[in-house]
Amino acid sequence: MYKANNNELEVLNFWKKDKTFEKSVNERSEEKPYVFYDGPPFATGLPHYGHIVASTMKDTVPRYWTMKGYRVERRWGWDCHGLPIENIIEKELNLPGKKELEAYGIDAFNEACRSTVLKYANEWSIIINRIGRWVDMENDYKTMDVEFMESVWWVFKELWDKGYVYEGKKPMHICPRCATPLSNFEVTQGYKDIKDLSVTAKFTLLEPQQVGPLHDIDMDGPVHLLAWTTTPWTLPGNILVAVEKNLEYSLVKLEGEYYIVAKDLLMKIFEGKPFEVMAQMKGSDLVGAHYEPVFPYFLKMEGAENGFRVVHADFVTTDEGTGLVHLAPAFGTDDYEVFRKENVPFIQHVTMDGRFTPEVTDFAGMEVKQREDHMATDVEMVKYLASHGKLFSKQKYEHSYPHCWRCDTPLLNYATSSWFVEVTKIKEQLLKNNQNINWIPEHIKDGRFGKWLEGAKDWAISRNRYWGTPLPVWRCDAEECGEIAVMGSVAELEKHTSEKVDDLHKHIVDKLTFSCEKCGQNMKRIEEVFDCWFESGAMPYGQMHYPFENKQKFEHGFPAQFIAEGQDQTRGWFYTLHILATALTYGEKPSIPVDMTGAFRNVIVNGLVLAEDGKKMSKRLQNYPDPMDVVDKYGADAIRFYLITSPVMHAESLNFSEEGVREMYNKVCNTLWNVLEFYKMFAGDMESPPLQTPSPNVLDKWILARLQELIRDVSTNMEAYALAEASRPIIDFVADLSQWYVRRSRDRFKGSDEEDAAFALSTLHNVLETTAKVLAPFTPFLAEKLYGELQNWHLHGDNYVSVHLQAWPEGNGEMQDEQVLKDMNVARKIVELGLSARKEAGIKVRQPLQYIRYQTEKISESLEQIIAEELNVKEVMHTEAVREQDDRVVKEDQNIRVGLNVIVTDELKKEGVVRELIRATNQERKKQGLTIEDKIALFYDTDSEDMRTLLTEYAAEIQSATLALELEAGSGGEPLEIDEMKIALKLEVKN
Ligand SMILES: [Zn+2]
Ligand SMILES: [Zn+2]
Repeated sequence: MYKANNNELEVLNFWKKDKTFEKSVNERSEEKPYVFYDGPPFATGLPHYGHIVASTMKDTVPRYWTMKGYRVERRWGWDCHGLPIENIIEKELNLPGKKELEAYGIDAFNEACRSTVLKYANEWSIIINRIGRWVDMENDYKTMDVEFMESVWWVFKELWDKGYVYEGKKPMHICPRCATPLSNFEVTQGYKDIKDLSVTAKFTLLEPQQVGPLHDIDMDGPVHLLAWTTTPWTLPGNILVAVEKNLEYSLVKLEGEYYIVAKDLLMKIFEGKPFEVMAQMKGSDLVGAHYEPVFPYFLKMEGAENGFRVVHADFVTTDEGTGLVHLAPAFGTDDYEVFRKENVPFIQHVTMDGRFTPEVTDFAGMEVKQREDHMATDVEMVKYLASHGKLFSKQKYEHSYPHCWRCDTPLLNYATSSWFVEVTKIKEQLLKNNQNINWIPEHIKDGRFGKWLEGAKDWAISRNRYWGTPLPVWRCDAEECGEIAVMGSVAELEKHTSEKVDDLHKHIVDKLTFSCEKCGQNMKRIEEVFDCWFESGAMPYGQMHYPFENKQKFEHGFPAQFIAEGQDQTRGWFYTLHILATALTYGEKPSIPVDMTGAFRNVIVNGLVLAEDGKKMSKRLQNYPDPMDVVDKYGADAIRFYLITSPVMHAESLNFSEEGVREMYNKVCNTLWNVLEFYKMFAGDMESPPLQTPSPNVLDKWILARLQELIRDVSTNMEAYALAEASRPIIDFVADLSQWYVRRSRDRFKGSDEEDAAFALSTLHNVLETTAKVLAPFTPFLAEKLYGELQNWHLHGDNYVSVHLQAWPEGNGEMQDEQVLKDMNVARKIVELGLSARKEAGIKVRQPLQYIRYQTEKISESLEQIIAEELNVKEVMHTEAVREQDDRVVKEDQNIRVGLNVIVTDELKKEGVVRELIRATNQERKKQGLTIEDKIALFYDTDSEDMRTLLTEYAAEIQSATLALELEAGSGGEPLEIDEMKIALKLEVKN
């Protein structure tokens, strides 16, 4: 049994003592870098299966390229800024909102974030180390380091200088609790189905007779426009109602009041009610009509006389609602666009933290979308409308609604001022650069990622938060001046302020002001900090403090050869890396002197690891085993191998199964270990010489050719970053090695043909050693252990050189042999058919049979010999045509047809009995724990004359097969019955 946990801990100790990782980097030339970017995780929680998947990929690929002779530096990074840590500190310090936070003090808050953000770093380092990932965690980079932040400033300034940055007011999704806008890809992370309250409200026309087609109609009651909304809390901010000018609208009379709705929706809205259609009109007839707002709060505001009227908008349809749309410009993208055209006042009746402003007198301060009860405020709105005669109807409404990805609060669509990277300006180049990326799986290139790029909107990079890299923008206090200065480095800021700056956080730099070059007034930093995704997108520059340090090294290794993350990052990190690199290398004067490019050449996108039942892994439900428990049981290698051969490598989901890990442990780790033990049994501490002359034995030729095939398959797929395809062939190879090569060669190792035994031993040594190298990137522990045992590492002390410092095995033309691979397949097929023929005839394999005939191309005699042994037949004969005959069972598959002779003659029967005797004796040997070193004396006791004759006749064969020096009559021993003859066998050790 392979003791995975013990062995892996032993190997970890060895690596630590030997400094194997450090050697594997430092011993490679800087001239031959292989650059890999590690996406920084947040350290605000412990690693889960997703991180183990990522770490497995991020370890396997660099180990491979290291063995290929490249220098693969691997620097760990931490994402330190942003909402994840801010939320934790807010909770810890009991700061429910911004007001409380600012009262507590930004200095103290930020310092609390700084001191807590790496709380779990130590646990991370233990787990990452235990799963065998080689990465430099001591020399890690942190996005909160001043060097990193300075590079972020540099990136921003470059983008600013190139004209890719602007400040603008736009409706965006904000999290009212975090009181900050979120970018569109953050928003996509938090959609959930929720029930909302929708209402149809009455907007009463002031002068209905003014609407052309209504001129002649005698109306004896109020005329209302009906508009439907799923966000009743936006109604106090209403300023316009939109219609589509070409649509047909109807005037309907119901219970003394009049309503205008789209003709197509009429039946739906008034279903079952005693209504009467009074007139028809076009949307264009309604445009310009004024109505009474449903809430009166903004009636007196400046410019109000131009608001509260009907306008045309293209987006109005009759898909749902009433065909009339209430517009609140501050709360919807469509609404905002209309507002910009219509020259109406901008109503902002909700604050950034999601509460009604004081103008909304009846509800001032109330949260519009409460986290615990998101319908509560809408219910209040409905009550108000009802009591003021403005409610037509209300319905529960289920829809998909975005929530904050960090704090789970329902988001609000909210027009606010923010800083943007003008992604739309470089979209063409983003798409072009994407074409040069090797995506695994490939469909992501033009699918998930390509589509996201095509629909790319400008990226909101500023957050109204505290713990982040501040935007390096200083603005003149004098409103009419508006001068802006952008800092691209610490030095620049020091020059402006004449102060020494060694920390760039908000609470430090916000205190630094200087006078405006234009008007002499005070220049103050704007309030916002960067979206933490901007920082992770800037990690290639930040981790090297580019361009302030490592200029040449960075430029030599840009873009990265390889990155890997989960598929949610197609809208996150992959996207931000790609945008920033494209922007920096784009245009006449690129900021980095390289050809236009994205940030990476090869990317593996992994899928999700789900619980075994296909549901999300949930701590609360405990529907999955703790990863470290699984590691303890089966080893990190087994879990790594399980993941890397799984569909997770194709961005598909995996239902994690501990049984699957166990299977990999059995098929790969334990099986190879057994092969090694078998080898050691014969080799002892002998160090086999490398294979000198090629072995003439067909099994040796075959396993060496299989090994060549394995090297080729693994290398080709590793080079294509197809990790599942690279690793899966190992499973079949290990099965072939153990179940065919070793099993078929067993007797050769024990055998009397010393030359052949030496060939077998050195072949197996060679195969195991090379297999260890092939395994090294995938199962680094097992590889080290195998290789070490083959090299007798315990005898060599410090001179032992790790398998991970070896060169990747290159193909060896001499050992490639397509013919032997093909022929062995034929031989194995014949065996398979022969066994199934035996089964059909009901004859055990131990019973020798006379012959098998096969019909296909003739194979070599040595292969026929293998078939003979495997099928226990005396002759294997090639024939042009296997015919159906009474004495045989015929089987056929593909182009191979066999006929097995199933006549058991007396002679064959006797031989069968001898086999049984040998088997029983060897089983007893095994039971007594004897090894091949132990010779025995074998005593038998039987009444059967036939048996005695047989024992004399076959004495030599029995003795040789059971390592018996003597075979004599004697008493005692285990009684058994073979072919209706009774016999007892007893053995004595004779050494
Ligand atoms: Zn939030
Ligand atoms: Zn100024």
